[in-house]
Amino acid sequence: MKLQKPPFIWCRGAVRPEGEAVLHVSAEAVVRGLNVFEGLKGYWQPDGTFGLVALPRHHARLKRSARIMRLPFEMDYPAFEEACHAIVGALAEPERDMWVRATLYAVEGHWGENTRTDLVLTAYHQDKRQPPSWPTGVSAWQRAGDNALPARIKTSANYFAARMARIEGKDRGYPEMILLNAHGRVAEFIGSCLVMARDGRLITPPASEGALESITVDIVEALARDMGMPFERRPIERSELLVADEIAAVGTLDEVTPVLSVDGLELPPPRLLAALAARYRDAAMGIDPHPAVDLSRRPIRRPAIALAAE
Ligand code: PMP
Repeated sequence: MKLQKPPFIWCRGAVRPEGEAVLHVSAEAVVRGLNVFEGLKGYWQPDGTFGLVALPRHHARLKRSARIMRLPFEMDYPAFEEACHAIVGALAEPERDMWVRATLYAVEGHWGENTRTDLVLTAYHQDKRQPPSWPTGVSAWQRAGDNALPARIKTSANYFAARMARIEGKDRGYPEMILLNAHGRVAEFIGSCLVMARDGRLITPPASEGALESITVDIVEALARDMGMPFERRPIERSELLVADEIAAVGTLDEVTPVLSVDGLELPPPRLLAALAARYRDAAMGIDPHPAVDLSRRPIRRPAIALAAE
């Protein structure tokens, strides 16, 4: 996959040319990999505005991650919302949706003293179509325990095992992998949560099993209940994956993506999860709004710096 190199990045309080977004090699963000982040998705709406999904919940989770990591983050929600729309305005193209990464870097400080942070927003184009399905496998790499690396913190260090699993998955022909926790039960996918359908019920492991406190899972739970599908949060054993009726990766970027197989065992065509995938997309794209899929909507406004470059 070719990495996009957007010409603008939001950092130090404004949209700037991407070349100005640099970190010093001795910053704690580099030396100790200190950062917390969010990934948020925006969709073009039928009225021509651009809508970012669940923005207040992303801001709140970023605050929670920063609090646990003792990283100062004072930006209030209106300023965060403004910043997200500013970077989208600089980069959006009519034929593609966008994914925004909001990263809070520790730019100054030493072992927790005198820590200063900077919020950096980068945005990338996304195809407008539904994410494709893929075969998956269970990784030999595990989620760390809450005492070592809490899964509820969205920080780059939590993606060490994910990166190893991704490399392992590539060797085995699986674009996505399932990570177990230290007890051998299901935690989540590399970059999304896992929802399984069994006997007409939807099941996902709770955060205490090593899953991120997912915003999309909360949304999907609300949609499922509305659609009359029972939804449970309980541990899932590894072997239960092999007798599931349906399995999907659920997250901001994957939305609801039913998987084709687990460790070479094919799954039947998805029914409940396919219906949920369609409902989620319709709400996110503003075709059939739902209160659980809250959108921060704005017309696209190009900032002066982007207009000057055009
Ligand atoms: N788990 C991991 C490890 C993730 O990176 C993500 C994506 N943010 C998720 C789960 C899904 O979380 P959300 O629904 O809030 O995007």
